[in-house]
Amino acid sequence: MNIMLLGAPGSGKGTLAEKLIKNQGFNQMSTGDLMRKEINDKTPLGIECARYMNEGRLVPDEVTMGIVKNFLQDNHNQLIFDGIPRTLNQAKILEENLIELNAKIDKVIYIDVPSEILLNRISGRLVCPKCKVSYHIISRKPKLEGICDNDGTELVRRPDDAPEKVKVRLEAYANETAPLVDYYKNKPGFIHIVDNANTTAEEVYAEVLGAL
Ligand code: AMP
Repeated sequence: MNIMLLGAPGSGKGTLAEKLIKNQGFNQMSTGDLMRKEINDKTPLGIECARYMNEGRLVPDEVTMGIVKNFLQDNHNQLIFDGIPRTLNQAKILEENLIELNAKIDKVIYIDVPSEILLNRISGRLVCPKCKVSYHIISRKPKLEGICDNDGTELVRRPDDAPEKVKVRLEAYANETAPLVDYYKNKPGFIHIVDNANTTAEEVYAEVLGAL
């Protein structure tokens, strides 16, 4: 089974993916993580991605879908698609790529979070550059301040989590990605999770497991 996670930046897609991977044997397909790896490795592709990511803008579809197609050649089952697709065009290309590989998206999980909560979550977010796990300075503190529980790496703030970049990212989500909810909502396998201020990551996970 392949699962797609749909939701705004800060909606908890990465945290949900982490739980599904750890407990249910899924593998992650996060375009953001793949792009950050290209940037860290200073590849030409990374240099191209950084031009957009550093400003909070979407990387063009041709570049993004090249990365996705390459990844899918060797992995196309038990995947969690996190942060992909972000445009209708990407959704259609992804479907075509999967059909060629005799695979498909079985479930689309939409995590629906009010915008004021998104800002709070992103502004307090810290991530481990090594294992990619996210923390929050209030709601998900590491055991030792500023240090990853899993591997002892110093936590960092993502450069695109700065307030001015977040504004651009949320606009890109509203304009380009939110229309995907309409595209998927009447298709089989659509799961709508409402996450409000009091919902914990564990509750979201439990609801998702029930729906799956
Ligand atoms: P994420 O880690 O999913 O929050 O993505 C961080 C940034 O990477 C985004 O703001 C975009 O600049 C870029 N990015 C990640 N996935 C995509 C995608 N599917 N299409 C275009 N840009 C993407």
